[in-house]
Amino acid sequence: MDMATDLQDFLIRLDRDIRARGDWGEVADYIPELARIAPGQFGIAVVTADGALATAGDATKGFSIQSISKVFTLACVLGRIGEQIWTRVGREPSGLRFDSIQLLETEDGRPRNPFINAGALVVTDELLTGRGPQDALAEILGFIRTAAGDDDIHIDRAVAQSEAGTGHRNIALAHYLKSCGNLRNAPELVLGTYFHQCAIEMSCVQLAMAGRAIAGLPDAPPVLSRARARRLNALMMLCGHYDGSGDFAFRVGLPGKSGVGGGILLIAPGRASIGIWSPGLNVFGNSHMGTHAAEALARATGWSVFG
Ligand code: GLN
Repeated sequence: MDMATDLQDFLIRLDRDIRARGDWGEVADYIPELARIAPGQFGIAVVTADGALATAGDATKGFSIQSISKVFTLACVLGRIGEQIWTRVGREPSGLRFDSIQLLETEDGRPRNPFINAGALVVTDELLTGRGPQDALAEILGFIRTAAGDDDIHIDRAVAQSEAGTGHRNIALAHYLKSCGNLRNAPELVLGTYFHQCAIEMSCVQLAMAGRAIAGLPDAPPVLSRARARRLNALMMLCGHYDGSGDFAFRVGLPGKSGVGGGILLIAPGRASIGIWSPGLNVFGNSHMGTHAAEALARATGWSVFG
């Protein structure tokens, strides 16, 4: 499928099929602001290497990017301190839920990878080195806006407040990391910054645009070297969907990063950057219909990295 019109037609049909199924999954309920979102929504945006944009459904509606922010914070940290970050966090799949505390005890507080919550807290802690939360958040937002070529991307403070009020699991993770000596800043400071980065609101179109550099598309803003992009893709493939990463690779065959807001940033290296959103989640905490859409798109385009 090379023609832009074929892709556009495919997305319209996919949107129609998904709405006809009505099998949406459950919205995240541990963050009260997210629990209020209606599950029956779906959007998709695909930017291809020729710069064309194809969309369907709620592709311009903003949603909470949540853990997709972890890709951007890692890119910022790699830009600041390079590969030194790997002394504080690993790059292996955890095989456990995104918010699991289990391995921290047996592995001396070094999280398995930067995409589980414990690892993301360490990455955010690194971004706070020598400055406060406002400046760290400004860097994260600046990176995303430049990558997307769009300044109209903001933090939804109500979502951040909502998570801060109920985020006991993350609070426990941050304090555990601190007790192991793997958090430099006060846990409260790291958590506040983390809840705000997760509360960044973007649409599928903005997400697809922001992923162009990770996909290595020709016109992408130069926010990332090819070597770094390659490594982000490897991490996204192996760890981007937590304990559902194997299932996602099996079904889709593309690097992706999910968030509990129901978003997925999906990368077809050299070919396309894709933003998908449907707020109902599957058992792994990844978008239920979003995963279905990614699978259908990969099948129709032949974009799987596995041939
Ligand atoms: N803010 C969420 C949390 O820390 C992000 C989790 C996710 O999107 N998987 O629980």
